[in-house]
Amino acid sequence: MSKETEFYNYITTLPETTLSQVRGKPHEVLKLIDEYPQNFMNIGPHKGKQIVTRIKEKAPKTMIELGGYLGYSAVLFANEIADDPDAKYYSFELNPEFAKIATYVIDLAGLSDKVEIIVGRASYTLPAFRQRLFSENKHYTGLDFIFIDHWKDLYVPDLRVLESLNLIAPGTLIVADNIITPGAPEYVVYVNFSPDEKKLYNETTKNPEGKEFIGRWNILYDTKTIEVATANHKDAIEVTKCFDYFSG
Ligand code: SAM
Repeated sequence: MSKETEFYNYITTLPETTLSQVRGKPHEVLKLIDEYPQNFMNIGPHKGKQIVTRIKEKAPKTMIELGGYLGYSAVLFANEIADDPDAKYYSFELNPEFAKIATYVIDLAGLSDKVEIIVGRASYTLPAFRQRLFSENKHYTGLDFIFIDHWKDLYVPDLRVLESLNLIAPGTLIVADNIITPGAPEYVVYVNFSPDEKKLYNETTKNPEGKEFIGRWNILYDTKTIEVATANHKDAIEVTKCFDYFSG
């Protein structure tokens, strides 16, 4: 049995006295995951805190994450928009088993109204999601916040998907995890490209997530790698803001 399924069995069979102490309390639910004897590949409290600070500053309305896993980051970040009736968090997750566990975790935290899990490969589900957003809001201009935390070799391909779908526009804030451990060097290079470098890359590098998703060379990013070190772990997040379109 996978450790994730073991965790599901654990959390769904907790005694009602324990459940009633954590129900509707996002930080108490996250503590159950933090204190569980197995390690999971979630954002965790240290890097999470850095991202929460940026969410507080930005007060985003439409947030997505690529890679939902057990719902840890969804609970931590969606909690920040819980009081805003117009804000929503969409969690894209490939694995239906993980999505099932995340659904339970998010519900226990009392955030099921704020978080929607979209199951499937992000590059397959993003086009319909984009259609939905555009039809719901005619003045839609781009996502406010994107958290990229799925497989590292998909960071650049899926960023190109997001660019191609016009989901990134001036004002969009993108945070990517695991920049040092295990590392996502191509991603850091991509968000640092000049318009000319990006144009050349996009024209000469086929996107494995779909050749139609070329990317947009004229999107300008301001980007910074922020190291977050703890006693036994060194990692970084990449914080990237789309600030304008290149106009020549
Ligand atoms: N963000 C989560 C958190 O902090 O709690 C951790 C995400 S975990 C590192 C990566 C997740 O990405 C896995 O659950 C995996 O199934 C998912 N994933 C991988 N490729 C994906 C894709 N193409 N689309 C959506 N999810 C994907």
